[in-house]
Amino acid sequence: MDFNLNEQQEMIRTMVREFAEKEIKPIAMKHDESMEFPIETVKMMAGLGLMGMMVPPEYGGGGTDPVSYSVAVEEVSRVDASHGVIMSVNNSLVCYPILAFGTEEQKKKYLPDLASGAKLGGFGLTEPNAGTDAGSQKTTAVKDGDEYVITGSKTFITNACAAETFVIFAMTDIEAGARGISAFIIENSYPGFSLGKYEDKLGIRCSGQQELFFDEMRVPAENLLGEEGQGFKIAMATLDGGRIGIASQAVGIAQGALDEAIEYSKQREQFGKPIAAFQAIQWMIADMAAQVDAARLLTRRAAFVKGEGKRYSYEAAMAKLVASENCMWVCDKALQIHGGYGYTKEYVVERFFRDAKITQIYEGTSEVQRMVISSTLLR
Ligand SMILES: Cc1cc2nc3c(=O)[nH]c(=O)nc-3n(C[C@H](O)[C@H](O)[C@H](O)COP(=O)(O)OP(=O)(O)OC[C@H]3O[C@@H](n4cnc5c(N)ncnc54)[C@H](O)[C@@H]3O)c2cc1C
Repeated sequence: MDFNLNEQQEMIRTMVREFAEKEIKPIAMKHDESMEFPIETVKMMAGLGLMGMMVPPEYGGGGTDPVSYSVAVEEVSRVDASHGVIMSVNNSLVCYPILAFGTEEQKKKYLPDLASGAKLGGFGLTEPNAGTDAGSQKTTAVKDGDEYVITGSKTFITNACAAETFVIFAMTDIEAGARGISAFIIENSYPGFSLGKYEDKLGIRCSGQQELFFDEMRVPAENLLGEEGQGFKIAMATLDGGRIGIASQAVGIAQGALDEAIEYSKQREQFGKPIAAFQAIQWMIADMAAQVDAARLLTRRAAFVKGEGKRYSYEAAMAKLVASENCMWVCDKALQIHGGYGYTKEYVVERFFRDAKITQIYEGTSEVQRMVISSTLLR
């Protein structure tokens, strides 16, 4: 593994950093307050090719490697974590499973619009009573001629308010438990599809989480993704990749917080000198930098292993665990360095601190990542 980014990866990093600074930074706080989905900047990200980065060009994507993708999510999240997750879900949780498990017809039908960002995607696995225990789905799909009739609901679905295409999961065989789950590609125009409440949240406030309701929604049988009963496997494989996206998001938030803390510590004076002159602050900055770097290296390793075409569940879980835990810690210290001002909305570290928390929860909580890591070690 090369620790340096190659020329193309470095180009992507510079391009995304400039874009995020110029276009996302000025609107991030306004959207955090209003919770309004940032459709205009998401369209701009699509224009830059950020919505289907790893989709091959023949299906309308950028055909880039996972390290480039990780770097792009990091750079977007360094400025705003909401934009980071919007992008990560479309790339990792929607384009990926269609690419990896879809038929040629499904890939041709859905990937070009998703990868170009002409249409946005969402991923519906979680239900009110099936969170960590994702295998205990209550949504059902019953075959009726050349259609499935899907009934049930999903909760906390990122991008739901703007997405037109979703990858969702439902039981085709209730008796079979997790082995009876199947995956489907659905469209928001299908009769019986509707959206529920728009979540009002602590952080990533403009990333559009809503409930999905399926009231005897009819889905063409050709929209079954993979085979009947393969859904749980598809969900877990998809989340492996998603965890690289969320680890990258966590690294980005933490780097953003570190950058702000360094800047503030050089400007803020107490006892007649900048607070950066005090060893307590210097040590916090040093520890923060070490934690960000450690998280980034683990994240890059997971992306690198994925790019090699090898199994990467373990590496992705470790990256997500360390990156999200470190992110929370780093954001806490960044706020501490800002003192009382960091507790106000005048300073961006207040938003980073709120945004950081979700990285320990979604796409598998930190407890779940520990389960994945230990189950590999104790095999
Ligand atoms: C902002 C946001 C966006 C989201 N986006 C999506 C999305 O786009 N698509 C989607 O499908 N889902 C999404 N989710 C759902 C998210 O993935 C779940 O919230 C998460 O998996 C945890 O499930 P839960 O909330 O039901 O918590 P629970 O499963 O109820 O867990 C509660 C606590 O118990 C712990 N716990 C549970 N079981 C065990 C165990 N066996 N051992 C040890 N500890 C355990 C958990 O770690 C956690 O600390 C989103 C959630 C949020 C908040």
